[in-house]
Formats: sequence, C-alpha cells, structure tokens
Amino acid sequence: MAKKTIVVIGLGTMGSMSLWQLSKLAQRFDLEVIGVEQFGLSHSYGAFTGESRLFRTAYHEGEKYVPLLKEARSLWKELGAEAGRELLLDFGCLNVGRSTDAPFVRLRESIEKHGLPYEELDAQALRDRYPGLDFQDNESGIVDLLGGAMRPELAVYSAVEQAKLNGAKVLEHTEITAVTQLEGGGVEIVAGDQTIVADCAVVTSGAWSKLVLPQLAPLIEVRKLVLTWFLPKIAGEFDPQNLPTFIRDRGDFHLFGAPCVDGYSVKISGLDLWGGPETDRIEDCDLRLDRQALSEFGQQVTELFPGVHPEPNRYSVHFDTYTADKTPIMDRVGDVVVATGFSGHGFKMAPAVGKLCAELATQAHTELMHPSFAIQAHEPVHAAV
Ligand SMILES: Cc1cc2nc3c(=O)[nH]c(=O)nc-3n(C[C@H](O)[C@H](O)[C@H](O)COP(=O)(O)OP(=O)(O)OC[C@H]3O[C@@H](n4cnc5c(N)ncnc54)[C@H](O)[C@@H]3O)c2cc1C
Repeated sequence: MAKKTIVVIGLGTMGSMSLWQLSKLAQRFDLEVIGVEQFGLSHSYGAFTGESRLFRTAYHEGEKYVPLLKEARSLWKELGAEAGRELLLDFGCLNVGRSTDAPFVRLRESIEKHGLPYEELDAQALRDRYPGLDFQDNESGIVDLLGGAMRPELAVYSAVEQAKLNGAKVLEHTEITAVTQLEGGGVEIVAGDQTIVADCAVVTSGAWSKLVLPQLAPLIEVRKLVLTWFLPKIAGEFDPQNLPTFIRDRGDFHLFGAPCVDGYSVKISGLDLWGGPETDRIEDCDLRLDRQALSEFGQQVTELFPGVHPEPNRYSVHFDTYTADKTPIMDRVGDVVVATGFSGHGFKMAPAVGKLCAELATQAHTELMHPSFAIQAHEPVHAAV
C-alpha cells in the first residue's frame, strides 16, 4: 500500500510543531510528511518573533487550557533535549493584580482545579522581593512555579530540524496558493509551480490564514502587537535570578514581559495598543510607530516599574491572528486540519497543538481537543451590522 501523504502548510509556530509531531508518527502510520513554508525557516515575519515568549500554566484565560499546557511543558523539555538547546527557561511567572479582579479569580481557579504548584505574595512581600517594581496595598502576587520563558525563534527552528532528522521533507520559499478538498477524499494543494495531492493538509498559516482558507475569514482578524524593552537603572535588578517572567494588571493597564534574557534590557510590553495591519500581506506592512505614543507608554510603564528608564530602548512590531473570544480554532473538516487564531497567547501551547494536529491528521481524534476549539463554536469577529 502507498504511504499516506500529509502536508503541513506554514512552518511557523504551530506548523513547525505539527511537522515535528507528525514526523514522530511517520513510521507507525506509514506517512510521508511534507512541510511547506512561504519564506525561509525561522524567518522574521512570523508570530514567533521577538526574542522571548512567556510560558504559564496558571491561566487566567481559562482552566480549560491547563491540560494542553501541561502536555506542552513536557514536550518543550523533550524538544529541548532532542535539539540539545534550552528552549524553555524555568524562571517561574509572576502574576500581579487585585485578588478580586476577574483574571485573578480565573487564575486561582486554574491552580486549584489542576493542583498547580504556586507561591502567593502580599504587597509587602512583593516589595521586599522585587524592589524595582511598584506595588499598591491592594495588589497581590501569585508565582506560577511551572512558568518561565521560551526562546521562540530557536524553538521553531529546532522543531523543523528534528522533523527533518526524522525524515520529514521541507519546501522553503514555496507559497501555497490553493487548498481544495477532493470529492473522493484527499486534498489538492498548489505549492508554487507544483501540485501535490495529499491525504490530509494541516493548515497552520497564522496571519495569512485568510489567504489560504478564505472560508475562515469571518472568524479571524489580524492584529498588530508591539514589544518594548527598557534599560534598568540598577544593573542586575531585572536579571532572571531576581525577576521571573510577569503579567501585571492595574485597572485597564495590562503589561507582560520577561527579565533580561539578552543580558541588558527588560522586556515590558502592553497588548492591543496599536490596531491592525494595513494589508493582508503583513510582511509588507509599515512597522514604524508614533514616537509620542511610544514615549507616553514608557512613562506609564515606570509607574509600575520605577526601576527602569522611561524611554523604550528598542521596540519591535509583530502580528497575530485573533478570534472573537481569543479561543483558537483547532479542528478537522474533511481532510483539512486547521490551527489558527491563537490570539496573542498561543506560543506556550505550541508543541501540544502540534500533537493535537498530528492526531487529528492521522486518527481524526485527539484527547487534547476541547469543544470550544471547534470551528462551529466560533462567532464572527465582527458582529453583523
Ligand atoms: C508580540 C507577540 C507576543 C506574544 N507573546 C506571547 C507569549 O508571551 N506567550 C504565548 O504563549 N504566546 C504569545 N504570543 C502568541 C503566539 O506567539 C502566537 O499565538 C503564535 O506564535 C501563533 O502561531 P501561528 O503558527 O499561528 O503563526 P506563525 O508562527 O506566524 O506561523 C505561520 C506560518 O505560516 C507561514 N505561511 C502562511 N501562509 C503560507 C502559505 N500560503 N504558504 C506557505 N507558508 C505560509 C508563515 O510564513 C509562517 O511561517 C505572542 C504573539 C505576539 C505577536
């Protein structure tokens, strides 16, 4: 019998991990596994760029994610060991807010329901431990002891590298322009100047998903996210031994970041400040920001982080794909598996998403599925007028 062919479309975050996971199943299911990427591997336009990503298991987005996150944690370690690189750095993750605020309540719920290890700090304990940060009396902290930081570019590269070692074929600089379900089963995929007929396609095309699967367009939108870094006033104060990764909420002001993994600057960033891209080809977008808005953001940051200089010493602009309620879409329709809409929080779960996609592609079933991930469970991003 001929081998089954599975094609992964887009080797960014979810595609690299799907390829890695499928390559592990290749022998068992007699598969030919092919990954196709429109740019070069670990390129600079993906949602995985920007030096670091937060890993968390205590999850204010909802306890439903925790099984996926636990699975992801062990797969991050496995990938790191296979690649001989430290991809997940065990710094812990500090969450700060008012204990009565809804995200904090959900955070606690995820810890209690799943028995996650954590440490609780009141305002005084926070001040004692993190002198470069400001805390109000009504704020408290929870350190997620399984949290940390990831090296995203290296992780994507490592997953594809391991997949190749396991026999996966990779086509770089090849754009997929059409994916068509065939009536008798299977999928026709137009890849550059060639057509591939596959048993299944796994579409992990991130911010380009509307171009690959136009039928998903009403359910997703692309948003611009900005990362900013600041210089500490006191050398060493924001190094990983003194500060874990963090999420802070004070009123409507939401910040997240990582200690100095580059050796000199601390990443302190705020989400959702800058709107959407001006074109569907995000690699062509203008990445300049309003200088005054950037400086004002820096001033606001120092209210919570008085230990840094107020002007961001560098910034970078990235894109991610959002759904209406920030729950990703992960599903199989016919012979097409899709994983998109990770809404600013997908990186940490990527290897588990890769496993979920690989299982959907080979067995059409996975224990990692949750009903809210299904396409049918999603509302349009813009309500009808
Ligand atoms: C600035 C920023 C900070 C974030 N911080 C965190 C964090 O701290 N923790 C966390 O868990 N998550 C975080 N996220 C979210 C997370 O990084 C994303 O959800 C995740 O990377 C999305 O992965 P993806 O696979 O959907 O997209 P991508 O990684 O962009 O991958 C899509 C890939 O598909 C390729 N492609 C697209 N179309 C085609 C085509 N037609 N043919 C061939 N290839 C194609 C693209 O070139 C790309 O390589 C953050 C996101 C951003 C942008």
